[in-house]
Amino acid sequence: MINLSEQLDLLCEIQTIDIEVTRSVRESHCRPAAIERLKRDVEAFRGIFTAAKRLLDETRNEIAAATSELDAHRAARTKLEKQRKKPGMPAELERVKVKIYSLDSALAALVARERQATEELKALSDGQASRQLELKSQQQLALEDAGSLQEKLRQISKRRGRYLSRVSGELLAHYERLRSLKGGLGIVRVTNRFCTGCNMTLPAQVYVEVMRGRVLTGCPRCQRMLCCASDKAP
Ligand SMILES: [Zn+2]
Repeated sequence: MINLSEQLDLLCEIQTIDIEVTRSVRESHCRPAAIERLKRDVEAFRGIFTAAKRLLDETRNEIAAATSELDAHRAARTKLEKQRKKPGMPAELERVKVKIYSLDSALAALVARERQATEELKALSDGQASRQLELKSQQQLALEDAGSLQEKLRQISKRRGRYLSRVSGELLAHYERLRSLKGGLGIVRVTNRFCTGCNMTLPAQVYVEVMRGRVLTGCPRCQRMLCCASDKAP
C-alpha cells in the first residue's frame, strides 16, 4: 500500500471525479425539464391559437351578416328613392340612410378587427411552429445526451476504479461518510493555509501536520479531510 499522503492525493482525484459525476448527472436532468417546459408552451400556444381562430371566425360571420344587412338597406334605399313622392316616404328614406351610414361604419370596424385578428393568428402560428421545432431539436439532443452521458460515466468509473484500488478501505469509508454529511465534499486541498472546504485559515499546528502528511488531519471547523496542495498528478 502506498503512503498516506499519496493516498490522500488519490482521494482528492476521486473527489474531483465524484464532483464531475454529480454535475454530469444533474445537467442531464436539465434537458428533460426544458422539454417539459416546451411541451407546456406548445400546449398553451395551441389553446391561444384556437381561441384566436374562433374570434376570427366570429368576426368573419359578423362581417357577412353586416354586409347582407347593408345590401338589403341599400336595395331599400333605391326603392324608396323611386317612391319619394309618396306621403311619408322622405322620412322613411332618411331613416334608411341613417341606418346605412351606421352599418357602413360598423362594417369598417369589423373589417379592421378582422385584419388585426388575421395578423395575430399568423404570428401565433409562427410562434407555435418555432416552439415545435425547438421541442423536436431538444428531444433529439436528449437522446444524444443519454448516449454520451453513459459513455462518459463509463470512462469515469473506470478511472475511479483504478484510484480506488490503491486507497485503504478505512480511508475510503471515512471519505464516503464525510462526503454524504458535507454536501458531497469529503476531502479538500489546503492552499495558502486555507481549508478550501470552508475557507477557514488553519491553525499553525494543523497546517504543519497537513504539510507533513504523516497523520490524517481534519479541518477544525468543517471536519473535512485535509490534503496539501499538490502539483503532481497521481
Ligand atoms: Zn474546513
